[in-house]
Amino acid sequence: MKELKEKKKAILEAMDHAVPEEHRAEAEDVLDIYREDLIGLTLLLELYTHHPESRDEWVREIRLVNRQQGVFLLVAITVQGEYLYLVSSEGLEFQGRLADGFLADELIDFFGYDSAESFKKICTKVDVFPVYEPLQLDEDICPACHAATGEVHELGCPVEICPWCGGQLIHCDCRYEKLGLDSIDSEEDLVQFEVLLEERGRIPYSSEQRPSFADDGIDIVFD
Ligand SMILES: [Zn+2]
Ligand SMILES: [Zn+2]
Repeated sequence: MKELKEKKKAILEAMDHAVPEEHRAEAEDVLDIYREDLIGLTLLLELYTHHPESRDEWVREIRLVNRQQGVFLLVAITVQGEYLYLVSSEGLEFQGRLADGFLADELIDFFGYDSAESFKKICTKVDVFPVYEPLQLDEDICPACHAATGEVHELGCPVEICPWCGGQLIHCDCRYEKLGLDSIDSEEDLVQFEVLLEERGRIPYSSEQRPSFADDGIDIVFD
């Protein structure tokens, strides 16, 4: 998992400038919690590289406000404040201070809040949100595509199970058989396969599908 190691190294370097000496150990403890979690590391790296000049800034805690299909709404608690971030494996976006309780309308809908007001209301106290757990420890999250239990995997996720043969969907031959093709060469073929897959009924993520992890990448084991 090279990406994780590189991120961790960059965070440690940025910490040299950002974290006061007396808080270094605590800041590293937080980093250690998320050492194998891409979402957590992405957020920490942003926070430590975003404030390179401020000497007295370090991240004490990350809490989970909401999550949906691999998109996480997190609050980073630092010495200077509580900040809302939208984070996924694709990247991250700063949303403002938690105290402002503001989210764009599309995000209010996406995360299933009744209204902007009801979201604002829950943002008044940070303690109501649970501490964000690193993904590999959270059995309710697909470790590869971050779908939650009961949610459909992202198409192409190596953990998704084929609804025809029960094998690993990205490796079995069902897609060729179902499409009547020897190979899949176009986006159209893929879209057509997705249609067949939905008709058949995709198998959503559940914790029994969790692969075991090897040091370099994912070693999928289904039993
Ligand atoms: Zn998945
Ligand atoms: Zn299959």
